[in-house]
Amino acid sequence: MHIGDILSRDTTTLSFEFFPPKTDAGWESLYRSIADFATLKPSFVSVTYGAGGSTRDNTHALVVRLRRETQLEPVPHLTCFGHTKEEVRSILELYASNGVSNVLALRGDPPASARILALGDFTRAGDLVAFIKKEGERLGVNAGRGFGIGVAGFPEGHPETPNTLTQLEHLKAKVDAGADYIVTQLFFDNPAFHDWRARCELAGVRVPILAGIMPVTSATGLQRMADLAAGTRFPAALLKAIARCRGNAEAIQHAGIHWATEQCRDLLDSDVAGIHFYTLNKSDATKRIYQTLGVRS
Ligand code: FAD
Repeated sequence: MHIGDILSRDTTTLSFEFFPPKTDAGWESLYRSIADFATLKPSFVSVTYGAGGSTRDNTHALVVRLRRETQLEPVPHLTCFGHTKEEVRSILELYASNGVSNVLALRGDPPASARILALGDFTRAGDLVAFIKKEGERLGVNAGRGFGIGVAGFPEGHPETPNTLTQLEHLKAKVDAGADYIVTQLFFDNPAFHDWRARCELAGVRVPILAGIMPVTSATGLQRMADLAAGTRFPAALLKAIARCRGNAEAIQHAGIHWATEQCRDLLDSDVAGIHFYTLNKSDATKRIYQTLGVRS
């Protein structure tokens, strides 16, 4: 189903992000989690795209398997890095022929270990959006409407473009190129998100914005998030809550999930278009958030 129809159908979309595992044990655990996630009836699930060949093949395989074997609506991530137009075209053909209706278009980042990987034929996510739009129409996806296309948004800024006004112009350009919705980088500071959402509106960015939420579930996880999402603000109140639990892994998990639950409550109260959970392939934290908020699907 085209994401535009999903966004109209669901008052607030609730969606999950998975990544393709690297080990057999990881795959087994993911399939168990997927069965668990399916009971939460998400609006859609997205699958990340890595930098290397085999992890990319795993994304394609997982997406096609989700489409064929589950009722879940899979949304593959696709990045500019290291791809020619021909390669992207054949990936889109694979998706189209397997009934995949939507794609999240990203630039990607060069992997630290492979400085050789060049950008390829696409320099910006906006170039990829325009190409996916054209190809989707050519392939007759969604009865000729083309793929539903998502793009990334950064409420607390993107490190490469410190000028926040210019950054909004870049975001608007991606939407004007054909994006149907925006999924944000993870954040912990809801006021910063609300302010950015208002600035998007002022800049003429009018597509639905889905808020990216990732609960802190461990002290090491917190460090990893700080590395992964450079520029993300960790409010003092969150850090104090985690610090009070020092040495107690279970308590840290409770505190992190409590914070994310309060974020989601506030987002639901302020009529956010959707919440996208960065799940790390584990369902426990998301299920606890659902239970506490009384959300069923
Ligand atoms: P772009 O929109 O191309 O922007 C990149 C930078 O270029 C920004 O600073 C932007 O302001 C600037 N820019 C844009 N247009 C112009 C212009 N015309 N002139 C000058 N500067 C310009 N990465 C992966 O590798 N795989 C994934 O699966 C993945 N999934 C993600 C999912 C989400 C929801 C998010 C938020 C990020 C994800 N990322 C993923 C990371 C993302 O690829 C990086 O953060 C990347 O640095 C930015 O990607 P983008 O699509 O926003 O790029």
